[in-house]
Amino acid sequence: MKLTDSVQFLKGVGPKSVENFHKLGIFTVQDLLLYFPFRYEDFASRSVFELTDGEKATIIGTVVTPANVQYYGFKRNRLSFKIKEGEAVVAVSFFNQPYLADKVEVGKEIAVYGKWEQTKQQLMGMKVVAQVDDGLEPVYHLTAGMKQSQLVKVIHQVFESGLLSELPENLPEFLIEKYRLMNRQEAVLAMHFPEDMAAHKQALRRVKFEELFMFQLKLQALKNKEKSGRAGLQVIFEQEEIDKKISDLPFELTGGQSRALTEILDDMKSPYHMNRLLQGDVGSGKTVVASLSMYAACLANFQAAIMVPTEILARQHFANLQALFPELQISLLVSGLKAAERREILADLASGHTHMVVGTHALIQEGVDFYNLGLVITDEQHRFGVNQRKILREKGQNPDVLMMTATPIPRTLAITAFGDMDVSIIDELPKGRQPITTRWVKHEQFSEVLSWVKGEVANDSQVYFISPLIEESESLDLKNAEALFAELNDYFGLFAKIGLLHGKMKNDEKDQIMQEFKAKKLDVLVSTTVIEVGVDVPNATIMVIMDADRFGLSQLHQLRGRVGRGTKKSYAILVANPKSDSGKQRMKIMTETQNGFVLAEEDLKMRGSGEIFGLRQSGLPEFIAADLVNDYNILEVARQEAVEIFKKADEFPDLIAQVNVEGGFD
Ligand code: ADP
Ligand code: MG
Repeated sequence: MKLTDSVQFLKGVGPKSVENFHKLGIFTVQDLLLYFPFRYEDFASRSVFELTDGEKATIIGTVVTPANVQYYGFKRNRLSFKIKEGEAVVAVSFFNQPYLADKVEVGKEIAVYGKWEQTKQQLMGMKVVAQVDDGLEPVYHLTAGMKQSQLVKVIHQVFESGLLSELPENLPEFLIEKYRLMNRQEAVLAMHFPEDMAAHKQALRRVKFEELFMFQLKLQALKNKEKSGRAGLQVIFEQEEIDKKISDLPFELTGGQSRALTEILDDMKSPYHMNRLLQGDVGSGKTVVASLSMYAACLANFQAAIMVPTEILARQHFANLQALFPELQISLLVSGLKAAERREILADLASGHTHMVVGTHALIQEGVDFYNLGLVITDEQHRFGVNQRKILREKGQNPDVLMMTATPIPRTLAITAFGDMDVSIIDELPKGRQPITTRWVKHEQFSEVLSWVKGEVANDSQVYFISPLIEESESLDLKNAEALFAELNDYFGLFAKIGLLHGKMKNDEKDQIMQEFKAKKLDVLVSTTVIEVGVDVPNATIMVIMDADRFGLSQLHQLRGRVGRGTKKSYAILVANPKSDSGKQRMKIMTETQNGFVLAEEDLKMRGSGEIFGLRQSGLPEFIAADLVNDYNILEVARQEAVEIFKKADEFPDLIAQVNVEGGFD
């Protein structure tokens, strides 16, 4: 037998069950060796004194009372008896296994596997263990029609055949030594049959490292291919012109902004194709960095486009760009334009008359053509799908690409999640920002909140109220917003002017409300989450979020980021009576930290990585042992080592050959 032989040649694998093996991704004998258990049953006996509440273990003791079976109705019953384990007398119960009474004999020893209930000093029995041996029993994922015992037998067979000794090592020796890893054969054996949990831990560490290292090597291979193969645009411009614009700004760029801008401009100047992610917490000032990059493209006689998820944001960017570059031709492309207006904008884009364009999804529609698109930016990129970003990119001849996001994630994770992209991070907020004080209050305290808000409005503050989010129901969202609007009007009466903003409004209506709020003609703005992304009104200092527990952490952080943009003290008030523990936990975390990175990490832990960056849609492989979030430290080390390997590629020809992949991740 060889490692590459099909599993169908193994004893106990018939023509039918071979299909079940295929369903689990097991085709060859080697696949079987690498099909690891997902957990272990620990049948080794323990003393009750070591057990913690809820822990599962085997206890051996002498039976001190006869078995008593109590029936509840026809099918349900409970068998109970007591055993003495050392100095402890322990109650043991089994549900619905009355036949076990035969095995319970006063004065005899018995071994029971079960779950320890600390407060009742009781073991909820799961099975009577016939033969106690020390060691962990592997438990494998199965598919329908397959039995644990069958799989275990087949796996035993492979190990007994001695084929494990033919499994080649695939990590370089120096890495095994450097990180004190088990070698591959040892690790595979210990994954299936660990001596104890400590051995299992070591095996798992090795397996995770291997998985993440191979993955990072692939990413490096991809990146190298991209850099050498695909020529991009060379954007030639005078740095002085950029510097002049920077000195015209009403503020100084932060260090983080300057660094990010330099990285972007260097990429654009280079003959390579830029593919870069710009990360920065809410309010860190990504817009101005994007604007200056667009300016550089225009100076080099290319067109630049920025795509944003909402119309409010598009209009805001448009106004900013116009103020910053009065000498340029800038267009705004959103849906719902008059036909003639749209036609003119499209003609100007196609003829090259337009230098810059800001738009929503309207930008990626058919019929939108560019003269020479040199730079493509997506703001709040997580709001767009992979395909939408691709369509925009393909409107140019291989333009430079910049994506921006306010959902900060650790750098290595970002590089991983976004495949072969480079990453820039703005890691500081502009000077003079006051921390936002965040409070969590219950609905019962809402009237106190209102009277406090009243005082603040009298003090010239402007306030957002966010109405509760109803998942996937715009009409209910609207109802909620309207009800809140009415309630606040009742409360404030003539004292405050209140506006209402929601997703069903016409664009010019939305625009008008935003303008009024910005111009301080409104004191209070009631809004659905259309306000969530990017809106910038520095004088607004209070954000009240109703039913805040319905939002995820990242979304709450984004919402909160609408305040604290000026120099005045700002507040976020979360009104919520969460029912779930995770809801309570989210409220607590929000009051404890304002650091987007910390929040994003908590969010990751609570929701899993896939949901946050759409890992699934980016086509990343699924990992068997490793987890991108929880094994972040290993991921980082694996990445560093992979980068080093590629620097000395000629020393590792075999390794490189293994990872030379077709195609990419996007
Ligand atoms: P975000 O990164 O969330 O998109 P914005 O680009 O909207 O943030 O910037 C938030 C606010 O900070 C804007 O009012 C912007 O004008 C201002 N701003 C940006 N950079 C600076 C800076 N270096 N100093 C002071 N204010 C700045
Ligand atoms: Mg923004």
